[in-house]
This record gives sequence, C-alpha cells and structure tokens, in this order.
Amino acid sequence: MARYTDSTCRLCRREGAKLFLKGDRCYSDKCAVARRSYAPGQHGQGRKKVSEYGLQLREKQKVRRIYGVMERQFRNYFEKAERQKGVTGENLLVTLERRLDNIVYRLGFADSRAEARTLIRHGHFLVNGRKVNIPSYLVRAGDSIKVREKSKASPRFKEIAAAAAHRTVPAWLSADGNALEGHILALPTREQIDTPVQEHLIVELYSR
Ligand code: SF4
Repeated sequence: MARYTDSTCRLCRREGAKLFLKGDRCYSDKCAVARRSYAPGQHGQGRKKVSEYGLQLREKQKVRRIYGVMERQFRNYFEKAERQKGVTGENLLVTLERRLDNIVYRLGFADSRAEARTLIRHGHFLVNGRKVNIPSYLVRAGDSIKVREKSKASPRFKEIAAAAAHRTVPAWLSADGNALEGHILALPTREQIDTPVQEHLIVELYSR
C-alpha cells in the first residue's frame, strides 16, 4: 500500500497552516509552521500569486493531508460522495470522518491520525467486539470502538487512558477514557465537523 514517508511538517508548511499531524509537538514552539511560516523548497519565499485552480488544488491537498489519504483513495471517496444523496462536499467530509483512524483520534485514543493508523494496524482495536486492523474501515452509527483488553496494559495505552479521561469529544461521539471505549452516537452533520475546509473548492476541482 502506498504511503507518504517524507517530512510531515513539510506538508503543513506547504499548505501554510497547522494541520496538526504530529500530536503534542503541534502545540509546542517546535512546530515548523510557527518557526518558518513560508512554503518549503528553493522558491518557498517567492511570489505568491495563486490561480483559481491553484486554490482548489491546495484545498484538496490540505484535506487529503489532514486525513492522511492518498490521491487514489481520496478520488474514490469523492466519487462515492457524488453518487450519494445530498451535497457532495458534505458527503465527502462525512465519509472521511467515518474512517476508523479518524474516530480513534477523535475519541482521544491517539495523539494524531498517524498514530491512530499505527495502533490500528497493530491490531489494538475492536469494532463491535471484532478485531479490525484496517485504518480506512468506515464506521456506522451505533458502532462501538474499544481497545483490546490485552493492549490496555501497555505503557502507551496507560498514558492514553490518563489523557483521554480529561478530553472532550465531538457531540456525535461518546467516550469513556478510563475504559478506552467509545461509541458512534450518530454520523456527524457538516456543522459538527470542525476541519477548516472549503469543500466546494474540491468539488469544483474535480468537476473541471
Ligand atoms: Fe504541522 Fe504539527 Fe509539524 Fe506544526 S508540528 S508543522 S502543526 S505537523
């Protein structure tokens, strides 16, 4: 499976915004966007005249990077969103929010979506009581997500449980930090998704 392996902070610098891809580091003064707030590379500090296409492209890249999805899969999500009833851009965001790695992150059971993907791949999570090790697994309303009993004793999950007990989760989820267990109460509405994105730009890009 294709995977992005270059510098993570470079992605934020390219988008000119904090995408919060690295957990605690993103809230510290080590954040690369805070230290060098210009695009990476030789021409990073050059002129910044952006075309309409450029704006649309950057918005799509930003969302892909926030959720950690490669181009082919993102395109598949978009095509699926187009076939669904309702507003395509909103359907796309709801689909991205349904990914298991996003849910684990939103529940506070990982510091970033990247960490969530690693923990899921290592088989630490159960969905409705069954082991799921696919980060792109799409959850449904009513699903329960929990950390396997065996995994709870690991130092990392003890840390996560201590931190998760004090975290608030979005209204469409419920979490029990101590038990490392959460539920999908309902799928989110557009208003409940706080990702800073203008999804209409992505729809316009793919409609060209
Ligand atoms: Fe982005 Fe976090 Fe790196 Fe800052 S520390 S550039 S927010 S990934």
